[in-house]
Amino acid sequence: MDNKKKLGTLLNHSDYKPLEGFEAFPTPIHHASTVLFKNVAAMRTSTWQDKSAYTYGLHGTPTTFTLEARVAEIENGKHCILAPSGLAAITIVNFGLLRTGDDMLIPDNVYGPNRDMGNWIARDFGITVRFYDPMIGAGIGDLIQANTKLVWAETPGSLTMEVPDILAICKAAHEKGAIVVLDNTWGAGIYFNSFEHGADISLQALTKYQSGGSDVLMGALITNNDDLYYRLSTAHGRLGMGVGPDDVYLVLRGMQSLKTRMEAHDVAARKIAAWLKARPEISKVLHPAFSDCPGHDVWKRDFTGASGLFSVLFDPRYTEAQTDRFVDSLRYFKIGYSWGGSHSLCVPYRIKTMHQFWKGEGELVRFHIGLEDTQDLIADLEQALTKL
Ligand SMILES: *Cc1c(COP(=O)(O)O)cnc(C)c1O
Repeated sequence: MDNKKKLGTLLNHSDYKPLEGFEAFPTPIHHASTVLFKNVAAMRTSTWQDKSAYTYGLHGTPTTFTLEARVAEIENGKHCILAPSGLAAITIVNFGLLRTGDDMLIPDNVYGPNRDMGNWIARDFGITVRFYDPMIGAGIGDLIQANTKLVWAETPGSLTMEVPDILAICKAAHEKGAIVVLDNTWGAGIYFNSFEHGADISLQALTKYQSGGSDVLMGALITNNDDLYYRLSTAHGRLGMGVGPDDVYLVLRGMQSLKTRMEAHDVAARKIAAWLKARPEISKVLHPAFSDCPGHDVWKRDFTGASGLFSVLFDPRYTEAQTDRFVDSLRYFKIGYSWGGSHSLCVPYRIKTMHQFWKGEGELVRFHIGLEDTQDLIADLEQALTKL
């Protein structure tokens, strides 16, 4: 046999091995669909679900395993599953845990696409879905039926920012045998401890603060329950929810500065919220650290900090056209969805058409306070308020 490799072979099989002993802080970015096995026996016996082996890119690489381990550690959880977006993580929960004939409860103020998926599941998949008042607390027990499999919760709620009593909701749900999934994105897994408050599964949109760059979509599910982990990871594989290693790298990189960034977002957001609260144009500041916000006392009891996202209600004398003009007049606050990055954002929402239990008055505008100079942001708000 000719030992000299012909070109096509040479291009694909090299004898070169890089020098060993390289060490650096960044996690290596492993790109792989195919993962190589040492021999057939290893291929036949390797299982992916307990993470004891690498089997296929979809099921994990050293890069994804590293981020999963870090996210789990931060939330004091045992298992973590990554998904291509926060919404994909919601999908894994719903399709992994629900069956035809089941019932699911979702808070009225939940992240909008979660609500939309609930309506879709109710319409097309033979599952009943009911929306509950987020401030229901232990009263959730009265809504739980024999077939109620899942109770979604979110703290605080998207847009209207009510802080629910997660302890009471989890206790009542567990007494009736339902699983509680908590969307813990606002606190980024560092300001609220999902498992100490009884959640079975914690969900993070890593898209937001963990990434911090407004440049990547990713979600995570964290749990301490081996059986739930098994069911969720099975659904993750079946649904093909693999994540790309470059995106994972961006989140790993962002997370190194998560604490420092969160502290800065928190200080700036509270300063700006306090400034807005003193303005005659604003009737309510819906920031969990402010007494205007429903559930403020629960926030004080349960949270160790706040993030940079909050909403305000304008005095009802202002019309939508006027508050739209305010938003359009802002210079540093950009108009766009998502949040958690270093740039400030501002979005008006037609909240009355979105929530069933909402009783507030006036136009709702949501702010994400970025890492710009706080005085510049306040000056920007001040000039835009004159355009009302
Ligand atoms: C953004 C967000 C999600 C979804 O995350 P994506 O990565 O954008 O899909 C889920 N829940 C909450 C509370 C969010 O703010």
